[in-house]
Amino acid sequence: MKTIGLLGGMSWESTVTYYTLINQGIHRKLGGLHSAKILLASVEFQEIETCQALGDWEKSGDILADYAKGLEAAGADFLLICTNTMHKVAPQIQAQLGIPILHIADATIERLQQEGITKVGLLGTKYTMTQDFYKERIIEQGIDVLIPNEKDVEIVNKIIFDELCLGEIKEASKEQYKAIIAKLQAAGAQGIILGCTEIGLLIQQEDVKLPLFDTTEIHSAVAVEKALNE
Ligand code: GLU
Repeated sequence: MKTIGLLGGMSWESTVTYYTLINQGIHRKLGGLHSAKILLASVEFQEIETCQALGDWEKSGDILADYAKGLEAAGADFLLICTNTMHKVAPQIQAQLGIPILHIADATIERLQQEGITKVGLLGTKYTMTQDFYKERIIEQGIDVLIPNEKDVEIVNKIIFDELCLGEIKEASKEQYKAIIAKLQAAGAQGIILGCTEIGLLIQQEDVKLPLFDTTEIHSAVAVEKALNE
């Protein structure tokens, strides 16, 4: 079994989900007392969020690259960056590593293609929804990406940072997300990417009819496969 490096803590609430899902996935495949070989680096999220807010992506990339190099030195065979947003600096981190980063958008694109989705709604932080680094990767594969209107982008983003990253799950916020998903569906989305690793804490498939693509779940599942198969 390969050793999975997790670059987490962004936020730690969603890293808990990664840790749980990966261990459950390994156990499901191997049974017994089998569990995942995981090395975790958990960052101080305020430091990273401050870089995001200031637009100092290079500094955040330097911080994350240092952690990533530590994971590689400790024996990780491949790396997961446990946040969609910080994939903005994935190339900067990858350039300093000998081990591969398993990109969260690529894992998700594969799943979208399996399901025959050609137009998808994207929910995530304002960075993920409005900047190109994430959307373009999906569009390049021939899948149209719809994002919420400006006001809804702010709502989705605020709920992520003010509630979900702090472990606060509110019914009113779930209703707001459901309403925004309904608007994306009306605009033609055949499915919705939960493109922020905390959104699955708020909303799950049983809450809406439209297919949801939870990036935390997908990323974790692909890590389990890679740990066992290659
Ligand atoms: N976990 C979130 C994501 O997947 C947001 C936190 C962050 O800004 O890294 O984008």
